[in-house]
Amino acid sequence: MDHTHRFVEDLVGQCRVPPGTSVSMGRDFDPAGGDGTLSRSEGQPQLEEVIQVIDDYQDRLSAAATRGILLVIQALDAGGKDSTIKHVMRGLNPQGVEVHSFKEPTDEELRHDFLWRCQRVAPERGRIGIFNRSHYEDVLVVRVHSELLRRQGGSDRAGTTRIWARRFQEINDWEHHLVANDIAVVKVLLNVSKAEQARRFIDRIDRPEKNWKFAPSDIHERRYWDDYQRALGEMLSHSSTEWAPWHVVPADRKWFARLATAAILAQTLIDIDPQYPKVDASVRRQMATDREALVAELHGSSEH
Ligand code: ATP
Ligand code: MG
Repeated sequence: MDHTHRFVEDLVGQCRVPPGTSVSMGRDFDPAGGDGTLSRSEGQPQLEEVIQVIDDYQDRLSAAATRGILLVIQALDAGGKDSTIKHVMRGLNPQGVEVHSFKEPTDEELRHDFLWRCQRVAPERGRIGIFNRSHYEDVLVVRVHSELLRRQGGSDRAGTTRIWARRFQEINDWEHHLVANDIAVVKVLLNVSKAEQARRFIDRIDRPEKNWKFAPSDIHERRYWDDYQRALGEMLSHSSTEWAPWHVVPADRKWFARLATAAILAQTLIDIDPQYPKVDASVRRQMATDREALVAELHGSSEH
């Protein structure tokens, strides 16, 4: 295994949430943490190498078209989803990747089950789909503001605790279904601290070109910080599975969040190890004939 592959494997191992463990955000994860040994200046060339791995493997993923990848990215406001996606995408051929952002559900979406809008845009084999927010909003924002449940199929469901256990089961089953149908599912939580979120909001207020990113509702949501941390802990405890594991990426330092997220995608591609399709002997013979004809044509035309 070469240096970059080993580096990727170590980093991903540090972030992975072992299936079946019960986690608590504050106790188990440090948003300011990191590799411990790596400095920012070392991180930059590492990121370039990881992106090179992604580039190389994605080409084979597209060519083979037998497996796909769904990369789910969750974070609280100002957690750095957009900029992380932008950087990870640098290694990807735009023709083989699609990003879907999940906002507040539309009326049509609310008339369906909560997974409907995700299934509709799930990636096909050969492609990488990135979810910017995802079906997990339905066990996060909807859990913190459980009155939102009432818009999703009747008041009888609101306030019941069983609904969350059922949703985790449905999510795990759906992801299992994708995996069984050759779509790898890998999930990243960008874990930002409350202080760093405040700093990023201040930056959005201070810099005119960032004002558009600031939403007063973000300040309102911040009041529910502790509720979100609890909901995130529940999410990780109940939906990090053998087939679709969660990774908690320390996100207070943006460069580290980008590097770790790129590494997680790279590891998924390495595990799949897609191969260029092999052509059989008759096609190879035909290609040799075609080649001769093309060469003859070139020589013929150069005589004129
Ligand atoms: P930015 O980081 O640029 O603010 P964003 O992902 O926060 O991007 P917004 O349009 O600001 O995008 O926010 C989308 C909002 O939609 C979030 O507050 C999110 O919680 C909410 N949302 C997403 N899915 C659901 C859902 N199923 N039910 C209710 N609200 C949802
Ligand atoms: Mg927002």
